[in-house]
Amino acid sequence: MANQQVLVLGAGQLARMMSLAGAPLNIDITAFDVESEKVVHPLTGHVIGHGLNNAIAQADVITAEFEHIPHSILDMCEKSGKFKPSTQAIKAGGDRRIEKQLLDDANVANAKYAVITNRAEFDAAITYVGMPMVLKTALGGYDGKGQWRLKQLDQVDAIWQEMEQSLINTPYQAIVAEEFVSFDREVSLIGARRTNGEVVVYPLAENIHVDGVLSLSTAIDEPKLQEQAKEMFTAVADKLNYVGVLALEFFDVNGQLLVNEIAPRVHNSGHWTQQGAEVCQFENHLRAVCDLPLGDTSLIRPTAMMNILGLDRLPESLLAIPNCHIHWYGKEKRAGRKMGHINVCAKSSEQLNTTLSKLASILPAEHFPALHQR
Ligand code: AMP
Repeated sequence: MANQQVLVLGAGQLARMMSLAGAPLNIDITAFDVESEKVVHPLTGHVIGHGLNNAIAQADVITAEFEHIPHSILDMCEKSGKFKPSTQAIKAGGDRRIEKQLLDDANVANAKYAVITNRAEFDAAITYVGMPMVLKTALGGYDGKGQWRLKQLDQVDAIWQEMEQSLINTPYQAIVAEEFVSFDREVSLIGARRTNGEVVVYPLAENIHVDGVLSLSTAIDEPKLQEQAKEMFTAVADKLNYVGVLALEFFDVNGQLLVNEIAPRVHNSGHWTQQGAEVCQFENHLRAVCDLPLGDTSLIRPTAMMNILGLDRLPESLLAIPNCHIHWYGKEKRAGRKMGHINVCAKSSEQLNTTLSKLASILPAEHFPALHQR
């Protein structure tokens, strides 16, 4: 096994965690900060290179940690023949229109929808999709941002005004109108696919979002649901001829899964794999894009992950709690920002619950909302 140089588009916590996972395999990560256009070290943030062309030339493999990447950059990477998963997959993750079409093409269940670019299409969507409905910008939306809920007709004009602004302000923007799904819970599946078509998936995670932001993820062991999710995962991954880690987020409606969205990358709801699986999602992503054998994805012990939101300090006493693992991202504090996460493991589900209750007595609800809502 030779040393590999992997260039990651994006210089956030996901590139950082890829770097930590890659080091033992002799896989070196450099990160391209799409905003500053600088090549940086993913752990220190120090500038280590200039210009995308040089970085592409020096890389064996190029991948991405987010999907909102300018198309000019994607095109340059694609041309090098080193980019994985693919421009098509990144675009599907970053544009809800393309994402919905992909799910339909892969014959994967998803919420009924219509695409809106003008007022007449909005009116038609209200008839076709029905109310209540969720309206989402096709481009630029994440963590519940760029969304509206339409419950009754007297909201239509006010919501249209806001949506129209978004259509005017962002080139190629559109709105996806989606039926409101009364789901029982949200779950996600993280898996990896290799060039030869081999697919491995982790156990499903049950996710609790608060105000559109993931707060708590717990690995679950539900064979029937797992089977259904894996089938849907494989259909989407095969359709894209995908290489790397891919995440599917689902609504669980009475045991039937609908895909809410896909993320063509390692995902926040897969961070639990760092302590709950033999090989974590970051290592498996690197293995897949470097075309190395994929690692074991099975659950080795009950594990949950909670995000640290808008907080840059935690009591030291946390480290004294057995099986509590803190992962900081080294970011500047901002209200509600994902600053790090805590993985909690246990020998049994009961013990995991007990530890989570203990943590709830130490950690503030403002920064760990789902921990307090259990
Ligand atoms: P998204 O950015 O699409 O993941 O949406 C953020 C959150 O809004 C999701 O995690 C759901 O809790 C909720 N949501 C999104 N779409 C729908 C829908 N069609 N019906 C009900 N809730 C939704």
